[in-house]
Parts: sequence; structure tokens; C-alpha cells
Amino acid sequence: MSTVFLQIAKYTASMDTGYVFTPPARVSAAVRHSDDRFPVRRIFCVGRNYADHVREMGGDPRSEPPIFFTKPADALVPGGSNVPYPPGTRNLHHEVELVVALHRGGTRISATSALAHVYGYAVGNDLTRRDLQSQARSRGQPWDMSKGFDASAQISQITPVERFGHPSSNAIWLKVNGEQRQHSTLDQMIWSVPEIISGLSALVELQPGDLIYTGTPDGVGQLVPGDVVTAGIDGLDELEFRIVAGPA
Ligand code: MN
Repeated sequence: MSTVFLQIAKYTASMDTGYVFTPPARVSAAVRHSDDRFPVRRIFCVGRNYADHVREMGGDPRSEPPIFFTKPADALVPGGSNVPYPPGTRNLHHEVELVVALHRGGTRISATSALAHVYGYAVGNDLTRRDLQSQARSRGQPWDMSKGFDASAQISQITPVERFGHPSSNAIWLKVNGEQRQHSTLDQMIWSVPEIISGLSALVELQPGDLIYTGTPDGVGQLVPGDVVTAGIDGLDELEFRIVAGPA
């Protein structure tokens, strides 16, 4: 083998960096008014964080600490997308949520210093297979397949804190085919953004790039193929997506 060939082979190998197949592209989210992208690391979610939604689901708002669960970063879907109706459910639900995007990590972050870790905010939708979630609840099983399936985390562009500040009592709403289904204000959250960051950082080491979906108000409901969902939080970029027929 010639020296030149060996050098080329070595170069090619270093380009591939020894992976057995080409690694997937890094998941990222768009930043409003910018060409920069926010590199996404993990997606954390809070369950039951609006008193009215907790009551709607048959619970008592103050009886339990926040419930955290996760979705794979791969489940992230930008606004403007067609979202295929997922297999395995007959009761797919929308859940509009404030999404917190972290640019600083840490453990045991105090609530008073938590907001310094926030890069920006987005409007998200925590797509849920409600029938599988109800079944998991009653059987004491995990939520992964009801929450963390493909294309289950819609997100708008991220609005940086430096442009917008931190939302407090802003309206949060969701419409299906132009008809209002969810409407509340962010001050109705049981646990505030600083409390959520503090609480989550006591359980895991938060990292730059982590997203936190902070829970949904009441009015969750069913989606079917053909539905167009629009969702917003006053001051943030609006989210829109369409449910289309999934694989047969
Ligand atoms: Mn949710």
C-alpha cells in the first residue's frame, strides 16, 4: 500500500471519527430575529402545573410535588410542520405550554438565581396519547410511550430573554381550526419557572441546551388528521402545525 493511499484512508477515517454509521444531525431550535440556532440537549416536561388542568384530570393541585418526565430531543418539531398522526392511539391530545430554554446548567440551583440560567422562551405543544397515558396511570406504568413518541414536542422559535425579558402573567392559549380550546395566564402555574428549574436541578444536573416544557392549562382535547393548531403566549413567537394522516 502506498504512503499516499494510507494517508487518504486515515483522513477519511478521521472524518467519520470511527462511528459505525453517520451520526444524526444535532437537534436545534430556531431563534427569533436571528440566524443563530439553539442546540437542544434534552427535553424535560412538567406534569400537572396548572390548578384548573389538575382538577380537570381529577387531581388535587396542592397534594403532590411537581411531576417531571422527559421526551427524546429527537421528538422536537419546529412550527410550520405537518405532524403525522401517531400510531397506537385513538385519543391524541394537544397541550399548549411555555417552554424554557437553558443556556447555563447546574445542580441545586436556587430559585432566586434560576432565571440567570434561562436563554429564552418559546411556545410549545406537548402532544399526548391520552388513552395510553390513562392506561399507564391506572396500571402504575411509565408514561414514555404516551408522551415521548416521535414528533411529540412542537416548538415555536425561541425569543431570547435579552429581547423579551421573563414572562409573568402573560396569556397562554391554543386554538384548533380557529376555535379556542385552551386559554389561561402564566400566573396560574402552580410552580413558577424559577421553582421548576430549582426543583429539577435537585434531581439531575441541568445542561446548556436543555428545554423545559412547563405544563398545560385546562382545555386539553382531541386532535384528528386535518386539524390546524395555532398556539401562543403574549409576546412570544406563535406556534402553528397541522395534524396529517399517519402511516397506514
Ligand atoms: Mn404537558
